[in-house]
Amino acid sequence: MLSSPVNSTSRNINLGPSGNPHAKPTDFDFLKVIGKGSFGKVFLAKRRHDEKYYAVKVLQKKVILNRKEQKHIMAERNVLLKNVKHPFLVGLHYSFQTKDKLYFVLDFVNGGELFFHLQKERTFPEPRAKFYIAEMASALGYLHSLNIVYRDLKPENILLDHEGHIILTDFGLCKEGISQTDTTNTFCGTPEYLAPEVLRKQPYDNTVDWWCLGSVLYEMLFGLPPFYSRDTHEMYDNILHKPLALRPGASSTAWSLLQGLLEKDGQHRLGSRDDFVSIRAHSFFSSINWDDLVQKKIPPPFTPRVVSICFLPSKQKNQKKLNILQSRVLLCA
Ligand code: ADP
Ligand code: MG
Repeated sequence: MLSSPVNSTSRNINLGPSGNPHAKPTDFDFLKVIGKGSFGKVFLAKRRHDEKYYAVKVLQKKVILNRKEQKHIMAERNVLLKNVKHPFLVGLHYSFQTKDKLYFVLDFVNGGELFFHLQKERTFPEPRAKFYIAEMASALGYLHSLNIVYRDLKPENILLDHEGHIILTDFGLCKEGISQTDTTNTFCGTPEYLAPEVLRKQPYDNTVDWWCLGSVLYEMLFGLPPFYSRDTHEMYDNILHKPLALRPGASSTAWSLLQGLLEKDGQHRLGSRDDFVSIRAHSFFSSINWDDLVQKKIPPPFTPRVVSICFLPSKQKNQKKLNILQSRVLLCA
């Protein structure tokens, strides 16, 4: 007998070790939507019993019903729980489910999306871009050491914490068991940063992340992704065939790094031999002390402006204030 949609949506999903069978939605006051992704929403939520703030990602089970998509979600769970702990990766506290929804309880990261700050300022000065790229590179190198390819690095998945450090979020999509058709699917988000081998539907490895890192660096320095065109087909064609054009305004070491990372042939790309080791050693990063960086001892070049919500007494008032602040609020827990 075929199972009805009702049966399938009410099906229990194995959340693995992060699954907390006692947790439930009423444990939280859901204060505001802080992000909308392809699978669901991310809320700022206050846990009632200890008044701590979290970002809770809520996914509709029916949206992830087919096996492939469930695999993506499970990839998120696996990635976030495979003892993945790094200063520049978002932390998952636990997860739970109801009849038709999955809930992931994450650290609330409150400095805004890098995308938001980049759009406001159009470009970043090179030292600022270097700081962010170094923090991202160290997070990617760490993921690679656990055999995890991030694959989907792009500004809206890159957040800043309240001090201005990088936090990569969104481990949910396109990491494991990606199907060939997904590269042109909106589930994979904006296509600007797709590496040539991903576009060509060839097998990919860690080096796709170094391509994406190059794309982020390029966009930070010049205000647009490399190979950008408003016409998506033309952009794909540019990514595959157009040589990287030298632009004024960047140092020679920045250019050298961009050329290394945006090498179309993955086998010749910087990072293809010994991964993060060769990225770290590039002269662009000669001023970076990597031990200090990973211990957050390098002061961020920019501190996001965040406002305390501690003093706001009622949920209603919180809601109003938060709407005005567009979720750029300070965790006071
Ligand atoms: P999707 O997988 O659907 O793309 P994301 O995990 O990327 O969902 O979340 C969507 C948006 O929600 C992000 O781009 C970001 O703006 C916001 N967001 C996600 N996680 C957090 C978090 N832990 N803290 C603050 N904002 C978050
Ligand atoms: Mg996302």
